[in-house]
Amino acid sequence: MTKHILETPVEYLKGIGPVRAEMLRKETEVSTFGELLHYYPFRYVDRSKFYTVSDIDSESAWLQLKGKITAMQTIGAGRTSRLVMTFRDKTGETELVWFQGAKWIREKVTVGKEYVIFGKPNLFNGRYNFTHPDIEPAGDEMQVPNEPLQPYYSTSEKLKSRGFTPANFVRIMRTLIAQVQYSIPETLSQTLILAIKLMPRSEALVNIHFPRDPYALAKAQERLKFDELFFIQLQLLRLKYVRMEKVKGRVFGLIGNHFNDFYHQNLPFELTGAQKKVVKEIRADLGSGKQMNRLLQGDVGSGKTLVALMAMLIALDNGCQACLMAPTEILANQHFKTITKMLDGLPVEVALLTGSTKKAARKGLHENLQKGSLHILIGTHALIEDAVQFGNLGLVVIDEQHRFGVAQRARLWEKSEIPPHILVMTATPIPRTLAMTLYGDLDVSVIDELPPGRKPVKTYHFYEKDRLKVFRFMKEQIALGRQIYVVYPIINESDKLELQDLMDGLDTVSRYFPLPEYHISIVHGQLKAGEKESEMKRFLEKLTQIMVATTVIEVGVDVPNASVMVIENAERFGLSQLHQLRGRVGRGADQSHCILMSSYKLTSDGRKRLDTMVRTTDGFEIAEVDLHLRGPGDLQGTQQSGLVGLKLASLVKDEKLLKIAREFAHRTLTDDPRLEKPENQPMVIHLQRSEFDWGKIS
Ligand code: ADP
Ligand code: MG
Repeated sequence: MTKHILETPVEYLKGIGPVRAEMLRKETEVSTFGELLHYYPFRYVDRSKFYTVSDIDSESAWLQLKGKITAMQTIGAGRTSRLVMTFRDKTGETELVWFQGAKWIREKVTVGKEYVIFGKPNLFNGRYNFTHPDIEPAGDEMQVPNEPLQPYYSTSEKLKSRGFTPANFVRIMRTLIAQVQYSIPETLSQTLILAIKLMPRSEALVNIHFPRDPYALAKAQERLKFDELFFIQLQLLRLKYVRMEKVKGRVFGLIGNHFNDFYHQNLPFELTGAQKKVVKEIRADLGSGKQMNRLLQGDVGSGKTLVALMAMLIALDNGCQACLMAPTEILANQHFKTITKMLDGLPVEVALLTGSTKKAARKGLHENLQKGSLHILIGTHALIEDAVQFGNLGLVVIDEQHRFGVAQRARLWEKSEIPPHILVMTATPIPRTLAMTLYGDLDVSVIDELPPGRKPVKTYHFYEKDRLKVFRFMKEQIALGRQIYVVYPIINESDKLELQDLMDGLDTVSRYFPLPEYHISIVHGQLKAGEKESEMKRFLEKLTQIMVATTVIEVGVDVPNASVMVIENAERFGLSQLHQLRGRVGRGADQSHCILMSSYKLTSDGRKRLDTMVRTTDGFEIAEVDLHLRGPGDLQGTQQSGLVGLKLASLVKDEKLLKIAREFAHRTLTDDPRLEKPENQPMVIHLQRSEFDWGKIS
């Protein structure tokens, strides 16, 4: 590809040069004209208006003031020192404070002269001051009257000291735009632009920096957000279509004895409507001749395991093997037991393979797998090791997807010549916008109904002062024959200090629940797999009444008799984790309870999380709140997904636009699956130019 003007290094832009270019690259990762063009203002301000010191009455607004610097001093020494100036206009005085970059600001400012300052007031010790305001000699200020929306670029003291003051940034951007505005390529087809009434891309990029008016700014933002969302969707859907076209799937057209015998003889209960619907969707996929890539979303306890088992039995009916991969050994063990029990009396060979499977056992297992006499293999990551070779693998089920990376997902279906069908199950409900983006290449099924007879878990929020009340309640529940989890927030399982918290907790609990009347299990990440296993087992067999644990029990563990979940320092957990933990109870017929213990000091986010837990048990609602509180950047899986590349669009605020983008990406590909039509070439070129970013998603 020939070099485009937008690929020119920024050092060649008038007013930058090599030294500043290097500084800019280090501080902002901007190194070409194109990247600079996408360095958008973070706000727009009316710099034609001046305020006075007496106008300052809140912390919220950005203000521009004109006045004299009447004093300047450095307070403190070394790293904690700060530069303080007194600023005065005809209405009063305020202080300006710098913690960084003091040296160059001191050199730049002369006491007694007049300056224009711009910044956001802070309330400090009952008085307003400005920290790190912009400061320019009066007369030098941006002289652009009648332009109420002036761009304001984020910068740092370091950059400012090299000439990238906000005012200079504006000048640099003007130079850039003048030079490139007629060379900005369109990225969408005219059909799309007309259908969605979008602003042309070059106009949008000019207006995002220098808006003609508020309406033009809104249209520019809409256009650029659309591009961000549209190209993610186009790429995801293209992956999906290419796969559907190229990758043949085994046709599982037969429903035979395995499935039917299980369904008629072994199924201990009626399937819920939602389970039936999902089994139907899966059956349709498996019979279609295309490889299935389906995400199964269902809240904790909604009965996903059963659905997975029925899908596996269809594979068996068609002469294939199936495997189920879980994120932890405990969970793999549990699946193995549940499934073996459910298949009781049926001619199906099931085996377990985890990190702790002995060498000797492995050997026989590998052989039977290759021969095909082993039908269902359940395990952990050990399943994707190269030594594990199936005779005829037809279906892979992955439980609790969020712990498996996107890359691992791909690795699985490269394992055999005809790739197996893939069913990914997740118990972390994901807001629709995020699912569309993270799993945009998968088909999605949702189990949106719990098995009948479940009582929603009652949730309470308590403080330390309520501790005795909580212990008394636990005793009552144990007297009724129930079991209890007490969970501690351990972020790093190998951190000794954190483990100490857990041990102290165990001490307290043991004192109140002493032997021989009470027995306690303990599970944490430092235990050997065998020890963990035997502690879990004691709890499962009701030999212990209380399980003190870290979040290693978070995922999938099923003990129907456990009806109380006590979460210590609950404010330190994220919402989805709290929801997962709460899902460990409420699995039997008894009324279950979740007790959130927290310290008195709560951040507003912490309080919101706990309040949300008390208010609702709906996993999707909780996921939405979580997304709003944290933003998508922190949610699981987004790091490698390239979502960080969203500059303007927000998965929280732009749901409508995202839907439009997906819809039109879909239409575009339906109309022109290989993007061969001339009018779609701008899109193809854009995808090629941004190839590097897309690598992160696929
Ligand atoms: P999850 O979706 O969290 O993996 P599980 O598959 O572990 O849920 O199911 C939770 C519990 O509900 C299990 O004990 C399971 O046997 C039970 N269960 C599943 N489906 C039904 C149903 N249709 N009716 C009654 N109980 C069910
Ligand atoms: Mg499960």
